[in-house]
Amino acid sequence: MQEGTMELMWRTSHVSGGNAHYVEALYEQYLVDPSEVPDEWRNYFDQLPRPEGAPSHDVPLSPIRDQFYQLAQNRRGPAAGPADSGENKKQVKVLQLINAYRFRGHQRADIDPLGLRSPTPIPDLELSFHQLTDADMETSFQTGSLFLGKDQAPLKEIVEVLEQTYCRSIGCEFMHIVNTDEKRWLQQRFESVRSKPDYSVDVRKHILERLTAAEGLESYLASKYPGTKRFGLEGGETFIPMVDEIIQRTGNYGTKEVVIGMAHRGRLNLLVNLLGKSPSELIDEFDGKKVIQQGSGDVKYHQGFSSNVMTEGGEVHLALAFNPSHLEIVSPVVEGSVRARQDRRDDSEGAKVLPVVVHGDAAFAGQGVVMETFQMSQTRGYKTGGTVHIVINNQVGFTTSRPDDARSTEYCTDIAKMVQAPIFHVNGDDPEAVIHATQVAVDYRYQFNKDVVIDLVCYRKRGHNEADEPSGTQPLMYQKIKSHKSSRELYVASLVQQGMISEDEASAMVEKYREDLVAGNHVANALVKQPNTELFVDWTPYLGHEWTGDADTSIDMTRMQRLAAKMCEVPEGIEVQRQVAKIYEDRRKMAAGDLAVNWGFGETLAYATLLDEGHPIRLTGQDTGRGTFSHRHAVVHNQKDGSTYVPLEYIKEGQPNFTIRDSFLSEEAALAFEYGYSTTTPNALIIWEAQFGDFANGAQVVIDQFISSGETKWGRLCGLTMLLPHGYEGQGPEHSSARLERFLQLCAEHNMQVCMPTTPAQIFHLLRRQVIRPLRKPLVIMSPKSLLRHKEATSTLEDLANGRFEMVLPDQGKRDAESVKRVVLCSGKVYYDLASYRAENGNDDVAIVRLEQIYPFPKEELYEVFKTYPNLEQVVWCQEEPLNQGAWYQSQHHMRLVADMVKEGLGRDLKFAGRPASAAPASGYMSVHVEQQRQLVEDAITG
Ligand code: AMP
Repeated sequence: MQEGTMELMWRTSHVSGGNAHYVEALYEQYLVDPSEVPDEWRNYFDQLPRPEGAPSHDVPLSPIRDQFYQLAQNRRGPAAGPADSGENKKQVKVLQLINAYRFRGHQRADIDPLGLRSPTPIPDLELSFHQLTDADMETSFQTGSLFLGKDQAPLKEIVEVLEQTYCRSIGCEFMHIVNTDEKRWLQQRFESVRSKPDYSVDVRKHILERLTAAEGLESYLASKYPGTKRFGLEGGETFIPMVDEIIQRTGNYGTKEVVIGMAHRGRLNLLVNLLGKSPSELIDEFDGKKVIQQGSGDVKYHQGFSSNVMTEGGEVHLALAFNPSHLEIVSPVVEGSVRARQDRRDDSEGAKVLPVVVHGDAAFAGQGVVMETFQMSQTRGYKTGGTVHIVINNQVGFTTSRPDDARSTEYCTDIAKMVQAPIFHVNGDDPEAVIHATQVAVDYRYQFNKDVVIDLVCYRKRGHNEADEPSGTQPLMYQKIKSHKSSRELYVASLVQQGMISEDEASAMVEKYREDLVAGNHVANALVKQPNTELFVDWTPYLGHEWTGDADTSIDMTRMQRLAAKMCEVPEGIEVQRQVAKIYEDRRKMAAGDLAVNWGFGETLAYATLLDEGHPIRLTGQDTGRGTFSHRHAVVHNQKDGSTYVPLEYIKEGQPNFTIRDSFLSEEAALAFEYGYSTTTPNALIIWEAQFGDFANGAQVVIDQFISSGETKWGRLCGLTMLLPHGYEGQGPEHSSARLERFLQLCAEHNMQVCMPTTPAQIFHLLRRQVIRPLRKPLVIMSPKSLLRHKEATSTLEDLANGRFEMVLPDQGKRDAESVKRVVLCSGKVYYDLASYRAENGNDDVAIVRLEQIYPFPKEELYEVFKTYPNLEQVVWCQEEPLNQGAWYQSQHHMRLVADMVKEGLGRDLKFAGRPASAAPASGYMSVHVEQQRQLVEDAITG
């Protein structure tokens, strides 16, 4: 049998293709524990020779595959005896047929409620493909690993089980998973019940009740507000029983919080029927009443919500994330929020908080951030123990009419295979199949802590929204939809036919729901009216604070020096690399007051002091452990064994978490994650760092849609800090500018802070201010590059201990205020170029004033400085950026105003010194850069 079998196996697509992995995995398992594999395979593997020595192939193959390969190669002549008998050959074919169903059964499954999926011939599922015929149907074969409850069964029964399991309302895709345990687990879950558990009458009635609620809300709104946009769920109503099941089942696992992200379709339905938003509040919103007291507000189908619901396992807190129109971007925000909650609960396995992300089919297939979010799902800094993904698959995107315009993959969910997530395509018109797929998905997530996808195949009854006429672009689909009964109607008919419920009972459910809705009663059955507030963070200490730049960030010198010494401690036995050792040695000298304080010291000490004061810190970004310019080295790499040591984790016993992680190479998902994290963790310092500042433009949607506008749209505070290296050092167009102008353009209503600190003491106090003040506002820091090592950019220990963040730094020189005729106002590192030019040229009538905070513009502080120069004749704004960039166009009105307050006309004559307007941020030629820099400095001081 062995050689004949191998020949057969190697000639068939299953073993030489994707199935080879399966057989290999089985064999691997057999080598570990023979009893773990099905009898059929064990018998077969028993006959194989054991691997001996290393394989000798040009292309390295796994030892197991190599063994199979060698076996096939070494085959000499036809094998004799029973192994090659016709019966045994057929037995192998039957096993291949079983596998074929596991691989490709989903392609034949009845997953499309409209029946529009064009039937694709699947040769692997035909008996003839496996050289089996109808004549074999009555013959008994071993069932192998098929979960049939018996070792042998007639082929007819085997095929029936396979058809029922893999080709009815659920199309399972899981054979792309390499891990054998996971595959076996999934096979068992589906095959043992043939993908159709026999639910009790009570369960079925509950499903119907939830389905009735889903349909009831839509029909109520449709009759009351015809043609008003609400992105209804009609066609996908089983989504509601599905999410209900997720929440309830999750509760049984002891989960305390579920965070949900979703786009607009079905959102109102979820809000009212599951999260417990009051129907009367929703009606008010439909009537256009203003329900948010402050800010711009947002449309109703973007609103988030929080509530607690009761499950058999206890009370569960639900949070639906606010989201913008930009589909999919909410996914990494949800992951960040979940990770924050898990970190708060010390829940490293993800057992206590579950992320559920709902997608649309077109966006799931089309948007890159989906890939980024999957990519982060198992990484140290971002994992959340697995996400349950739901695709509300309308089978048509808003931007295209045909699937072949919308994607190149077979399914809209194929991207999920990159992390080997199992995918269950399920017919939205079969609520019990939906519930089964959901239960398996939730159980899988808790069993394996990985992502899982449920593709709810449905349709959208009214087109993209209620104001749309979809038959203009999808005539055939909408002809079908017009005469198609709703999921609820179909389910009622099926239950009535099975004698489980009467028509009257079903109608009574409809009536009851409508009555509750009209009466304005809550219709989310599980809602807890007096929620346990300990399940979520108390934000009240952070609410209602007006903007202020003031905060006492000073610190007792003795304590500061103790912390400074602590943050430089590296235990014996860790061999520190030479340059890193020098950085730490210098820091020790700085701590002792023997060396002026540099940037890395000031920044690191800010972290140490905040940790000491009980604030957790999370710092992630591109090459962040080291810092793009090697100034940080917060993670020490042992040169002996590559292990790492983070001194800031050992500031004191019982300190809060200090998390520092190099991010994966993403900006969009990585920044969105930190937004989600910081909108969930008010007491921590959360920092995202870009390798170079302009890389943040890969995350522009996060900056526009969340960071700058989240508070005014949704009342959600966010204390996220962004470190964006910025400065003209001659490194070319891509590495010079963090696009300050774009941040400033987004600034209004004190929505965020944009700062460009120029000394170690300033970054120390700025970082401390961000956490010590109860005010929570995003902070954008144009962080320096050459200043990290600039010999003038130093501070003293006293500056750190006794100072505070100065929004405006007055001139540092000891010049006579009366002699000053010109003030050069600037931000960032150009200050040092200006100061050096002035010193060389002796321009004593020029004062150089630094604007360290550009927004909110510190008018009063600047006025106080200007006022000290009684003979001021001219104010010059100097920037390194070209005329059309930097702060000039966004901030000059503030500067003019302050200058005019000092002396009439000073503001009007405000002068610009900087690079000429330019399409690119900087020149790629060092010589041009140097000449431009010389010129702008000269213009500012003497021009
Ligand atoms: P959640 O855990 O996200 O459901 O939030 C629970 C409650 O905390 C919400 O209902 C809000 O009242 C409040 N809250 C949560 N996040 C924020 C935030 N970023 N800013 C202000 N309040 C918040």
